[in-house]
Amino acid sequence: MWIDLLTLFPEMFSGVFGDSILKRAQDNGVLRIEATNIRDFAQDKHRSVDDKPYGGGVGMVMMCQPVFDAVESLQQQKPQVDEIILLTPQGQKFDQQLAKQLAQKQRLILIAGHYEGFDERIRSNLATMEISIGDYVLTGGEIPAMIVVDTIARLVPGVLGSAESHLEESFSENLLEYPQYTRPAEFRGMQVPEVLTSGNHERIRKWRLDQARQRTRQRRPDLLNETD
Ligand code: SAM
Repeated sequence: MWIDLLTLFPEMFSGVFGDSILKRAQDNGVLRIEATNIRDFAQDKHRSVDDKPYGGGVGMVMMCQPVFDAVESLQQQKPQVDEIILLTPQGQKFDQQLAKQLAQKQRLILIAGHYEGFDERIRSNLATMEISIGDYVLTGGEIPAMIVVDTIARLVPGVLGSAESHLEESFSENLLEYPQYTRPAEFRGMQVPEVLTSGNHERIRKWRLDQARQRTRQRRPDLLNETD
């Protein structure tokens, strides 16, 4: 999968995607993540990317021209771009289901806003979808873009190693994950549940499913309603 990030701060992404699992996936050629500076497409001598809002009001609005030009330049490379995603608090709420759908795509462009947001024509005539990471407002779309890319990327086949499966994780079957333990079997008098050290795989499987259901019922009953 190939993901392009359009941003005013490309250097913000190097730390996040330059380590650990996502770095390994890029080194192995399973994943390609590239950050492009929208300002490189500005046309005036001040390299402007924003301007005052028509009608007045506070803040600055990201201009159409640099963003349209940046997207069109990326679109000249193959493979074809499947989705042009605007990060915005007004977008579709991001969740694991949406991440699964996006992980099937070959190529995505994510556009991170700044200031007061985007000229409406970017939203209506360029983006193919809008994503929000939640009902709160951040200073820019970079952190939302990191969250979206990280969540999608680990669902792409080959990104996680065999020891790092996502199949039994929270939200994978509309259930929260069951409790996990590691050695020692007793710590300060706190015991690991006996079933987990029994070696009986069927008992362990049933216990985990039961725990996942109980936990979801207690903490996130809204998830269970989706499957009922
Ligand atoms: N004035 C905008 C509004 O009221 O919707 C908020 C602009 S915000 C300060 C600047 C940028 O941060 C947005 O254009 C968007 O790219 C990003 N952003 C902020 N909160 C976000 C969220 N919850 N989800 C996705 N992107 C967000």
